[in-house]
Amino acid sequence: MKQRLVISFLAVIAFAASTVYAQNPPFPWPEGKKMAISLSFDDARTSNPTLGVSLLDEFGVKATFFVVPSAVQRNLEGWKKAAANGHEMANHSIQHPCSGNFVWSRNRALEDYTLGRMRTELMQANAEIESLLGVTPVVYAYPCGLTFIGKGEYTQSFVPLISEMFLAGRGWLDEAPVDPFYADMAQLTGMKMDNMEFEEILPIITSASENGQWLVLAGHETNESGNQTTYLRMLRQLLAYANDPENGIWIAPIGTVAHYVKEKRELMAGNVNIPGIVRSATDGTLNLTAETGKGIGPDIKYMPEWNAFGWFTGKDRVEWDLALEKGGVYDVWMEWSVSDKESGKPFVLISGDQKITGKVEKSGSWETFKKIKIGQLTLKDDYNLVQLKAVEDFDTGALMDIKALTLVPVKR
Ligand SMILES: [Zn+2]
Repeated sequence: MKQRLVISFLAVIAFAASTVYAQNPPFPWPEGKKMAISLSFDDARTSNPTLGVSLLDEFGVKATFFVVPSAVQRNLEGWKKAAANGHEMANHSIQHPCSGNFVWSRNRALEDYTLGRMRTELMQANAEIESLLGVTPVVYAYPCGLTFIGKGEYTQSFVPLISEMFLAGRGWLDEAPVDPFYADMAQLTGMKMDNMEFEEILPIITSASENGQWLVLAGHETNESGNQTTYLRMLRQLLAYANDPENGIWIAPIGTVAHYVKEKRELMAGNVNIPGIVRSATDGTLNLTAETGKGIGPDIKYMPEWNAFGWFTGKDRVEWDLALEKGGVYDVWMEWSVSDKESGKPFVLISGDQKITGKVEKSGSWETFKKIKIGQLTLKDDYNLVQLKAVEDFDTGALMDIKALTLVPVKR
């Protein structure tokens, strides 16, 4: 037992040393709320428009229903009423295709789909939902949580299609809530609420609240008991908890929250750190901004007001991942600031076995950013890693504030 503890402790250290923490302010949920919750129910199950909707309506909470049109027809009046009450009606495909490992799905196995067939059926589902319920779905839930089509070497993801056709796509049986700054809207995580008691869900809510996240819960039937059922007793407790202003929860349908998140992201663009792979702009330039960089080390800080990284020990570094269609030679421009007092420390830019070294020249002040060419790099096709750090360790003072590296292709 003791030995196991030691091993897991070491594993935690190894993990922490390579972890990148985005250093952003808390996500600005409306009215100072701490987190968002969306409730969603799949398949247009029998108990949804009756027991489920009446309980939701009792608490004045709107949910998202991912419906299959043929199932809606079994209680069309009930579903029309749910839609009229403001519940979101969303797309869950026309015939619920899953992997052929589910024998019931073998006549419509994802393994036998093409992207064209998927697009046609998604459009058909949208059209049928529109004609039945008078609303156009803006979000999609992947049946069985599966995002692929084809088999083996023919396998493809249809996430890009969902990204193109919908505001958001939701998974199933995921293990973490949505990070509103980082998440791919086409792959929102969906965490299970079926067959769970409120005591089991509360810790997930508490943790999501501490991290300012968006918890998207997913279920099926809404009843007292049964398989694939969100228990009404759990739902009642959850709704009361979410409605208590003390708990700082914004509870709204997926489409509503997705729209809000997208809008906030656009407003904050350029002033949040969201590490992500850098791709060439249309003119071939690569913009390695602080916004997309990874700050790694004991004392590196992303400063949203400057969209710059500031670093304060020799052990800190910034890294960027790059995806290039084609490699080539690039002029490297650096945009930085430094106080006269801290200027002059040597830095190094590393990519593969290439290094550009220099001294951090005076920019005038911490508030004045300057941009100069520091050298050239030859980048490979596809993936490249670029690192910027101090040449030697130092204990006091600072290296510089870095706003961006701009890599401009050299015309040959
Ligand atoms: Zn389903």
